[in-house]
Amino acid sequence: MKRSKALCILSGGQDSTTCAALACQQFDEVHAITFDYGQRHVVELESAIAIAKSLNLTSHEIIQLGPILKGTSPLVSDTPLEQYNSTEEVSEGVESTFVPARNILFLTLAGNRAAVLGIKDIFIGVCEADFAGYYDCRQLFIDAMSHALGEGIWGVPDSFVIHTPLMKLTKAESVHLAVEVLGDRFEEILALTHTCYAGTKGGCGKCHACLIRDRGFSEAGFVDPIWKFRQPQ
Ligand code: ZN
Repeated sequence: MKRSKALCILSGGQDSTTCAALACQQFDEVHAITFDYGQRHVVELESAIAIAKSLNLTSHEIIQLGPILKGTSPLVSDTPLEQYNSTEEVSEGVESTFVPARNILFLTLAGNRAAVLGIKDIFIGVCEADFAGYYDCRQLFIDAMSHALGEGIWGVPDSFVIHTPLMKLTKAESVHLAVEVLGDRFEEILALTHTCYAGTKGGCGKCHACLIRDRGFSEAGFVDPIWKFRQPQ
């Protein structure tokens, strides 16, 4: 039986889209929020709008944060974006694209919107296997946030359930999950997603996000529907 309502943090990327589709299978109403935090890739926001419409989500709010998240990440500053030829070149440790406190802020605002909408279930597409070393993508962090939001908003530690269905999946496994959940709409919906840090439609094929996405599709044995938009190198 479907439960009633869920809230999904929808970035416009592959992972949050898979989460939203999964939430649609499990809940009658799926509301989504997308954050505009001055990120370079505005195309992400356009993707999120198109995806929310295609998945027929109950509501979709773009929350304007402005340039409040500061840092040296090329996603929110003029620092040049690193480019690689293969995933082997990506160094260990935290990627320079890490934006401090981003998911803390996003989940805090999700807690606010969820409380207002009478929602206890929140979906976020974080994944430990991303190996970008983002501390705020680990289950330990999600558990701590879930505890803090429940305590701070309802006075009951775990009154929110933060769903992280992709947490333990490799990128190839995430592709398989998207295929399973979206069925014959897989190509149509995934073609709307955007992952590239450089903001290039179809992906630049050189940034950390593109390399990881490309490798996931290759390992899963599927053609990424966004490749049809990719410019020849
Ligand atoms: Zn890219």
